[in-house]
Formats: sequence, C-alpha cells, structure tokens
Amino acid sequence: DHAVATPGMSNALNILKEVFGYPAFRGQQAEVIEHIARGGDCLVLMPTGGGKSLCYQIPALLRDGVAIVVSPLIALMQNQVAALHELGVRAAVLNSSLSQQAAAEVEQKLLAGDYDLLYVAPERLLTARFLNLIARTPIALFAIDEAHCVSQWGHDFRPEYIQLSVLHERFPEVPRIALTATADMDTRKEIIERLGLDEARLFVSSFDRPNIRYQIIDKANSRAQLLSFLRTEHSGDAGIVYCLSRKKVEETAAWLTAQGLRALPYHAGMDMQERSQNQERFLREEGIVMVATIAFGMGIDKPDVRFVAHLDLPKSIEGYYQETGRAGRDGQAANAWMVYGLGDVIQQRRMIEESEAQLKFKQVAARKLEAMLSLCETTTCRRLRMLSYFGETTDDMAACGNCDVCLNPPQVWDATVEVQKALSCVYRAGQNFGTGHLIDILRGNLTERVKEWHHDRLTTFGIGKELPEKTWRAVFRQIIALGLLSADSESHGALHLTEASRSVLKGQQTVQLRLQTQAGHAFEKRPSS
Ligand code: ADP
Ligand code: ZN
Repeated sequence: DHAVATPGMSNALNILKEVFGYPAFRGQQAEVIEHIARGGDCLVLMPTGGGKSLCYQIPALLRDGVAIVVSPLIALMQNQVAALHELGVRAAVLNSSLSQQAAAEVEQKLLAGDYDLLYVAPERLLTARFLNLIARTPIALFAIDEAHCVSQWGHDFRPEYIQLSVLHERFPEVPRIALTATADMDTRKEIIERLGLDEARLFVSSFDRPNIRYQIIDKANSRAQLLSFLRTEHSGDAGIVYCLSRKKVEETAAWLTAQGLRALPYHAGMDMQERSQNQERFLREEGIVMVATIAFGMGIDKPDVRFVAHLDLPKSIEGYYQETGRAGRDGQAANAWMVYGLGDVIQQRRMIEESEAQLKFKQVAARKLEAMLSLCETTTCRRLRMLSYFGETTDDMAACGNCDVCLNPPQVWDATVEVQKALSCVYRAGQNFGTGHLIDILRGNLTERVKEWHHDRLTTFGIGKELPEKTWRAVFRQIIALGLLSADSESHGALHLTEASRSVLKGQQTVQLRLQTQAGHAFEKRPSS
C-alpha cells in the first residue's frame, strides 16, 4: 500500500509498535495519521473505543513542536496524560485544577520545548495569555476532541467550543484534527461550519458495534424489570443505568442498594468530591452499577462495562447510540437494554414544547425525537435502523441477528379498527383529554370524571371493552409515536388529532401495531462471545 511505503508512515508504525506497544493500526488510523502528519486538516468520526486518541498522539510525535489537545473533560485529560507518561511520552495538562504555580511551571516548560502534547481546557486555550504563549513556540497540530460539543443541538454543548475557530484564524498553517463519536448528519455539518473545516478531509468509520445487543421493551414496572434484567443477565457485572432526572437517579440507586446490589449515584447536582469518588469506584472496583444522568459517561474509558440500561427515553438516536456505546468497549458481548412507555413519549414531547428555545431548535429537537421513537417502535432490525440514521446502510445489508427484533421478531396486528375507535373517541370527547380518561371512555368505566363530563353518553363509550387497559395504553403510545395523535402541553397532555389521523379515520389507511413484548428480559441467557 502506498501509504505504508512512505517514510513518514514507517515511522508512524514504528512509533505505534515501540511507544504504544501495538502491532498494527486499526481501521482508518493509518490514513488519518498520514494526512495530519503531512499537514492536512481533518474531521474524524469514529465510534467510542475506535481508537481516536492515537490519531493525534502519533502525529504529535512525528511533527515538530507541541500538539495542543483541546478537551472539555478534566478527568479524561488527566487519565490520558498519566497513560502517556507511563509510555515515556512528554505530555502535560493545563486546566483549572492546577495551582497558579504549577500552571506557571507548565507554561515555562512549554516554551522550552519540553512537551510533545499539551492538553488544555477550551476556556483556558481561549485566553489571550495562552494564545500569545503558544504563538512563541512551534506547534505540531491542534486536536479538538469531542468536537460535537460545538453543536448547539446536542446535550454536550459547550459555548467555548464555538470560539475555537480562532485557532484557524490565528494559526492558519497549523493542521487541525477534530474528533467525535457522534455521527449524525446535522452535527457533522455543524462541526464543519463552526470550526471552519470546509477544506478538511472527512474520515468516517463504521458506527456499528456488533457486540452490543440492543433491546427495547415495553415499560411496565420499570424498577422490577430492571432488577430482573440485572439478576438474570448481569449478576456481578459492571454497568450503567441512565435516568432522566437527578431525583430518579438518587431513588433508583438507593433502591438497588436496598436490593443488595452495589449501586452508586452520579449526577451534576452532587458535590464534586462525591461525584468523582463514585466515578473512581466505578472505574477501579468490579461489578459496580452506576445509576446516572447523562452527565456521566463522556470520556469514561472502562472497557468491561457489560450493560447500559435506560429507564427513560433518550432525546435522540445519537444520544442513545452514545450512551449505549459505553458498553462492551473490550469487544466482548454486552447489552443495551431499555424500557420505554407512553409516559416517555408524552414527557419528551412536552419538554420540547415547553422549552424556552427558539422555534428552529424545537423543530430540530422534535425531528430527533421522532427518529428515536421510530427506533423504539420499529418492527425491523434495530441495528439497521440506527445505521441508516447515520447514513451507513446499503440496500443489501442483512438484519443483524443480535437485537431483540431480530432474535424475537415482534408480532404485528392490524389495529386499524381499534385505532379508529381511539381517534373517534379523542374527537367525540372534544380533543380535551389525556390517555387515562380516554381509555376509561373506551372501556366503559363509569368514573367520577366520566359522569361529570357526561362522557357515558358518547357513542364511543364502551366501544373498546374487548381490550384490556394495558393494551389500550400500548395502542395510544404507538399511535402518538406514529404521529396520529399529538399531546398538547398547554392543557396537560390533552390529545388531539393530527393531519395524519384523517386518512385513518376515513379508512384510507391501515395501521399495523406491535404486539406487546412480555415484561422483563427477552432472552434466556447471555450470548457467548
Ligand atoms: P476513543 O477515543 O475512540 O473512544 P481510544 O483512543 O480511547 O478510543 O482507544 C480505545 C482503546 O483501544 C484504547 O485502550 C487504545 O489503547 C486501544 N487502541 C487504539 N488503537 C489501537 C490499535 N491500533 N491497536 C490496539 N489497540 C488500540
Ligand atoms: Zn437486528
């Protein structure tokens, strides 16, 4: 291969072997390294665990001067620098955790040319003082890690990242490499635009994580479902349980502890010391279950996380992919398990509507949520769904055989008549009520509220007796997810008809729904790896 034959690349391979102790490059590492070593800009999209760090660490050793690495994560920077020291690489960190004296010392050594890599927090990098400092020393490259932090739509948004375009303006001759594990098209475009990387070469790796088994089941009693999943499939394993709110994190961690599991909480509202203590324990000890908000995980390099469980619905497929991607970084079998129910759909929709954000933001958020919901409701391979969201699928790609849909194909039923009943009921009741009351009307329950509104006189009263309440809830969840009904935030979740409901009501369109999966776990055993 041409790339390997050039002198630069044989050096790169030597460094890989001699400094890092690995025999061969993985995926696109060699190409990325060659491109940067020759002075080109690039954007690298590689899944978590794909080996992004070497993509800038080796060019840092190949090129003259110091490589400046921007990272938003203090803990990650420190881990990386410690690991580099063990390999004999001259690296340092400059962030707010350093005393003034220690920082001054790092600055001096930087000017003396004592470092191959310097890790800097973005807010530090952007100071006039730091920019003037690096203007006085040769720079090998700029690496912008976690580049998706530049995206305002993502939950990792860091305002300082937007200003990183200053690097290109001040140091146009220095190559830049931006890296991220977030792959969707919107974010990709935003990174390129905001960081001025239009000329940069794009390196996109496959985002498939074949060792992760995806499983999304109907939410019934989520705690009990979680416990049963942990006991039957992951006894003694380390893993992460994601919850939406801090309160739920605390409660779930306490409850799991009471059940005899080794669970710890993690969220941004806890004090720093306790948080980092819990994170340390998760990394060092075996079999800890970390119950966390999404504040936990970015940059956590723990190879043997055996499962990631979601008790609440992520806002987007990239969030889901990123969070589940923390499982199985060692390549061994791992589970991504989620419970999902009607409440999640309504809650997420409401959060978007009630947010103070601009219309454009709400539209993007709504589109991302739609994609996530269709992943939940899909009756075809979940992995293919996700890969197609990342623009990676081809027509001849086979279903994965390692997700719940592939392993346990959901049965679908023709629910057209039932959906028509539900939609008419919404209409007759004046599009003013939520799911619970509508189900009471459909099932003919004479509740106080039904009597108060004279809803027992509606023609739809009792027309849905044949289905149990649980099934009706699943029907409503799916038709909301499908966009046949929308929940109104102003009137506390009152459902109303949409454009799409008309053709169903007129009988012009049939509706296929999933039969419910049974609660708990869909599989008898863990897969052998
Ligand atoms: P990312 O930042 O993309 O999540 P890392 O750079 O942390 O991934 O790499 C993940 C793991 O893979 C690390 O333990 C790293 O040492 C290892 N690794 C990276 N490249 C190679 C390679 N070419 N051969 C063997 N192991 C590698
Ligand atoms: Zn599949």
